[in-house]
Amino acid sequence: MGKGLLRRPRERLLVNNLPMKKDFTLVWDIDDVLNRLTHDWLELFWRPSHPECKTTYADLTSNPPHESLGIPLHTYLESLDAFRFSAIAKSLAPVPETLDWFQKHGHRYRHLALTARPVASAPDAAEWVLRHYGRWIRGFGFVPSPRPGENLPDYGKTKAEWLQWISVGDVLIDDSPFNLAGAHQIGIRTVMIPQPWNVTPGTIADSLLELSTF
Ligand SMILES: [Mg+2]
Repeated sequence: MGKGLLRRPRERLLVNNLPMKKDFTLVWDIDDVLNRLTHDWLELFWRPSHPECKTTYADLTSNPPHESLGIPLHTYLESLDAFRFSAIAKSLAPVPETLDWFQKHGHRYRHLALTARPVASAPDAAEWVLRHYGRWIRGFGFVPSPRPGENLPDYGKTKAEWLQWISVGDVLIDDSPFNLAGAHQIGIRTVMIPQPWNVTPGTIADSLLELSTF
């Protein structure tokens, strides 16, 4: 389907004759794209407190990974939420390949971060993104992942709905086939970041090189 059919038309303005690429907006997933959340949760948080766990990061064939780990979804979510508020999570390192891409190519584009997560963890995520990537990423959006007992205003439940509303995103970079399929359906280009659960060949650096072809 053509890109303009479902999206609101957007006027592209050239300001001071900046190259057009500067108006091209990349939308970045945070977890497992800008950071190594799942890897660090598993290796630094879950496995140390569950020595019986023999599942390695490469064994995670789905995300959320509870089935790969043989645990209930709520057990995984409770552990992940505890990890998000831990000191380890506050000091997560950026993905080296991603940070390297920003340092070399980031200035050529505009950037937004877009994450799906519990609303309670959004402030820390925004702080982390802007601390590590704020030279380039100038906006933060999130889609709440509801937790029991939460009753939040409903502005849409998916990243695709958020992208359709914000209407300036040209490419979504994400590790979730579901999120990328939703973006594709509304005419947004997509780049899959390889992780064990999406069975994408190549390296993160290889995937990021696709951005220079747009
Ligand atoms: Mg992700």
